[in-house]
Amino acid sequence: MNAPVTRTVGTKTAATLPPGHAPSQGLYLNSGNGATLVPIDIGHDDFMAVIDPHTAFWALVKKDRLAEQLCNGELAQTYAEKAPAFAEEMQMLRFGLKPSAVYVNPTERCDLNCQYCYIPADMRRDGEQMSQAKLIDALTILKGHFDQTIDDGRLPQIIFHGAEPLMNKRAMFATIDHFKDDYRFGVQTNSTKLDDKSIEFLTSREVSIGLSLDGPMAEITDKTRITWTGKSVHDKVLTAMEKLRGYPHYSVIATSTTENLVHLKDMVELFHSYEVPTCMLNQVRCTLPGAREVRPNDAEQARHFIAALDRSHELYKETGRKLVIANFANILLSILAPTARRLMCDISPCGGGRAFFALAPSGDLFPCSEFIGVEEFKGGNLFEDDIDQVLKSEPFLKVTERNVDQFKPCSDCAIRHFCGSPCPAEAFEMNGGQDRTGAFCEFYEEQIRYAFRLIADGKADDYLWDGWDKGVETTFDFSLM
Ligand code: SF4
Ligand code: SF4
Repeated sequence: MNAPVTRTVGTKTAATLPPGHAPSQGLYLNSGNGATLVPIDIGHDDFMAVIDPHTAFWALVKKDRLAEQLCNGELAQTYAEKAPAFAEEMQMLRFGLKPSAVYVNPTERCDLNCQYCYIPADMRRDGEQMSQAKLIDALTILKGHFDQTIDDGRLPQIIFHGAEPLMNKRAMFATIDHFKDDYRFGVQTNSTKLDDKSIEFLTSREVSIGLSLDGPMAEITDKTRITWTGKSVHDKVLTAMEKLRGYPHYSVIATSTTENLVHLKDMVELFHSYEVPTCMLNQVRCTLPGAREVRPNDAEQARHFIAALDRSHELYKETGRKLVIANFANILLSILAPTARRLMCDISPCGGGRAFFALAPSGDLFPCSEFIGVEEFKGGNLFEDDIDQVLKSEPFLKVTERNVDQFKPCSDCAIRHFCGSPCPAEAFEMNGGQDRTGAFCEFYEEQIRYAFRLIADGKADDYLWDGWDKGVETTFDFSLM
């Protein structure tokens, strides 16, 4: 039997040292049991950030007072008061969530052949479709699961996702009506099948709608998003955007690639002129080789992305109307109020298999849509296996146990709980394993530095949803797909 470790620590006697604790009183920062507070250059004229990499506690400190702050104990005192709450919040977010949403792919088919699509081409061409009866069966089984796991009063979320879900419109719409009191619904669509009747159906039921558009003009969009026969869909998306003007539950995703990067600022102008409430300027997911061919380098990605953010701010100041760029707003929230974050990629473990999971038309279950079609990430089948067992299956654990604290260089990175080292699917497909970084490390560094600069200048609210801080308890909001 191991005897308890008893040591004299300063003037105190520590009866039993918990594992991982040094025999010190923690009087000094960055040694012994003292707080770890790492200074980070955020590129601001006057301020630096100091961050505890473990809890994501942070403070902004005047550059010319940094040494004084680190030595005089004031910062350590603030840390001692606030760090436990930061640690608890981080623990809950990272390890305490249960799935509350499912990305449902009612079809494997898509009428487009986007260059960066993560779904294999043969599946998109003539893959499986769910019948209406099967789709209703699937949501009945899911409802049984959520009835056991989600507190009364909260509705679980179903996001119809791609391939192109409206290729199976009839089954999808019947299912939405069948379960109208049981779920909140969303759909991510390429817009080609979003005719007037579909828009009327979806908006009258307050279904969240996400569209995709990659360029401010057809020549740019067409470089990555075209039909199988090479036809443009740019104007169809603009038509849908026009029809959705004023609908609050909609967003547009632009995927930034080498083909449209220099136009990100123009995209922001276009979206703002169409009164799009929220957009995402997502970096291309480099899961498949085709996507990696159009992957911008990090520095260029950061430069154009930040120019687009700056432009969105100018437009807000000129017009009083915000265009929230959700993927960046989420980074800001990860710093300001981690539980208010609405997307679950930039946290580790990420939301895949933990906050949500994905259902393929065959009934196969994956931690995230990014893994659909990758056999070794299949956790089971909805119609054959118990969902609780699937969530604990080896393929799911590969994603839900991917912990940024446990692989280098991320484990040494002070901003790891604002970045999360996404994405496990990219790390696996592009970099050879789950214990590697994803595709855009330096891009995350630049975004986080920019976010801290906005906070230092008191501008962060301008980049966030109005009322983001009222009753902060969001954690995951599927309306931003
Ligand atoms: S980081 Fe990747 S696997 Fe995780 S939720 Fe995001 S897209 Fe899915
Ligand atoms: S990917 Fe880069 S920025 Fe993100 S946690 Fe890892 S080292 Fe840090």
